[in-house]
Order: sequence, then C-alpha cells, then structure tokens
Amino acid sequence: MTAIPLVDLQAAHAEVAEEVREGFDRVLATGAYIKGPDVAAFEAEYAEFSGVRHAVGTANGTDALELALRALRLAPGAGVVLPANTFVATAEAVVRAGLRPVLVDVDPEYLLIDPARAAEALPGAAALVPVHLNGQLAPMRPLLDLAGDRPVIEDGAQSQGARQDGRVSGSWGRISATSFYPGKNLGAYGDAGAVVTDDEELATAVRLIGDHGSGRKYVHETFGFNSRLDTLQAVVLRAKLRRLPGWNEARRAAAARYGELLGGLDGITLPGTLPGNEHVWHLYAVRVEHGRDEVLAKLHAAGIGAGIHYPVPVHLQPAFRELGYAEGSFPVAERAAGEILTLPLFPQITAVQQEQVAETLVKALH
Ligand SMILES: *Cc1c(COP(=O)(O)O)cnc(C)c1O
Repeated sequence: MTAIPLVDLQAAHAEVAEEVREGFDRVLATGAYIKGPDVAAFEAEYAEFSGVRHAVGTANGTDALELALRALRLAPGAGVVLPANTFVATAEAVVRAGLRPVLVDVDPEYLLIDPARAAEALPGAAALVPVHLNGQLAPMRPLLDLAGDRPVIEDGAQSQGARQDGRVSGSWGRISATSFYPGKNLGAYGDAGAVVTDDEELATAVRLIGDHGSGRKYVHETFGFNSRLDTLQAVVLRAKLRRLPGWNEARRAAAARYGELLGGLDGITLPGTLPGNEHVWHLYAVRVEHGRDEVLAKLHAAGIGAGIHYPVPVHLQPAFRELGYAEGSFPVAERAAGEILTLPLFPQITAVQQEQVAETLVKALH
C-alpha cells in the first residue's frame, strides 16, 4: 500500500510545470520581482474569474482580510461578526485591523455561520465576515438581508470558483478576501492572497494601504504596510487559474466518488451541500461521532494523510481568551471539532487511491 497525501501539490505542479518555468524565466530575465507585468495580468484575470471589476494581490490571505477591513474605515474597536468554526486567521485579521471579533455559532449540518445566531450578534456590530468553509458558500442571501447597511466581507480563502445560485464566491460581499496558500484550491508556491471588489474606491484604498500608504513613489498619503503579491507567485497563479475550473470539476467528481464509496456506512456522516451551492470541495470533512481520534490514528498508521480542520474553535484558543468566551459558548462548533475528519481530496486523486482511503476507513471504524 502506498501513502496517500491529504493534498498532492506535486501532481498539480506537474500540470503547469512547463508554463511556470517559462514564466519564471521571463521574470528572471527582466528582474521585475515586485509589481511586474504578471501581477497586473493576474489581477485582471482573477477579477474576471471572481465576477468583479477589481482584484488587488496581497502577500497572503490574512493580510487580504485585514486590508479589506481597513479599507472600509470602520470605527476603531467596532464589532465584526464571524463564525467560531474557522481558521484562526479570520479572527486575527479583525484584531489586526483594530476591530473586535464577535463570534457566533455555526449550523449543525453544514457548519457554516448560522444566520439565526448572526442575527442576534449583528445589532452590536459594524460588519459581517461569513466564511465559505471547506469550499461552499455560507447562506449569502439571508446574511446580506440581516447585515442591512453593514458591509459584508467574504472570507473566500477556501472557495475560489464556488457558486451560490449561480453567483461566484467574491462577488457577493462589498469587498472580499482570499488566500493562495499552497494547499488552497488556487495555490501559489509560497504565501499569496487577494482582495476582490466591485468598488473602485475600496480597491484603491486596499492598494494604497498594502503598499506603504503610497500611490506615488515616496508620497505616503495614509498609514500602511507592505503586503504585495510577488511577480513570481503571479506567474504560478496565472498558470493555475486557467486550470482551476477543470480542477474544481475534478474535486466534485472525487467528492461524488467518496459519496458512493462511503454512503450508508454506520458511524460516519458525510458532508452535505447547502441547497443552491456549487461546492468546490477544498476539504472533504466527514464526521465520526465516536472515537474520531482513534480512527485518525489508524488512517495515519496506514499512510493516509487525513487531518482535522480545525481541532480547536477560535473561542477556545489561548490567543483569544480575552474575548471572554468559554467552553459551552458555541456548542455546535465545539461538538463538531471533536468529530470532523478530513479525507485526502485533490483534483488528481485517482479512483484507486479513493478506494484505498475508503477501505482503510471502513476497517478503522469497526
Ligand atoms: C487559509 C485561510 C486564511 C488565511 O490565509 P493565509 O494566506 O494563510 O494567510 C483565512 N481564512 C481561511 C478560512 C483560511 O482557510
């Protein structure tokens, strides 16, 4: 039995290797490592892909969220509603932007931010950050209705190309952020991210703040920092973006295959798709009601790169203790954290690999 990784980055690289090498050669020949022509080209291509007019490349996804929040110029210390079940970066960006995370619980079926809980928290808050967890959009229509005049900022780090009612991730919020961390559906060869928006003023503000507050060399109009997309990463992202629709389709086929292989099995619940969503399966997370950690250990022992995303919800992280939440604050997120188990899924995964995962999982469950 050969090992099966959670994500196979080499398999993705093999598909773009030639294009990436040619692109790197082009950049190396000019030395335009910062703000080279590939950055502008990628930004235009990614804006179009996201159904908006503007995309601004950033150094990573956490910065993209921070820049989006800073561009909105909310009152210092204002509350920002976000789900407890997310990668910690969502909450970090809120704090970094000088704002206050207001966490809410998720729904028990899809583990996406629960509109009923968001409704309770929004009156005391200035903005809402839904997280499109695991590759599917949070319920955007109810959330936009609830938010009213408050800006909605999508955390689309896990959902490049995902749709709801036909409308693509990144085009729902007033401004949205994404990450091109290597393991994401659209992954760079290092850290990278982007902000997307239809609003020209916001796009300009993001560009300014992420480039030392400067639109013209040595004129610093506003306080900023350095968070730009590298030209070499833009080369990689351009090559991969062209493959992304096909790759997302392959992920959907692989998710369907797990459905066939694992459907009806006792002891696990398979992930569902919220009605109206076109899922891009960034992560395929099943739930194991009893003995999840033993099942995970058995998978690892058999060379299967399963994981847990995420084992500890944000409100129980030591770093966020001062927000004042405790065990029991968000029971749905807490229960899920003890049950979720992510199986290997990537566009190039083979039927044989998936059968091997399923076989090992069935044995581990019994
Ligand atoms: C990956 C991720 C981020 C942060 O992205 P980085 O590029 O690693 O900074 C933010 N939010 C979510 C939900 C993520 O999965």
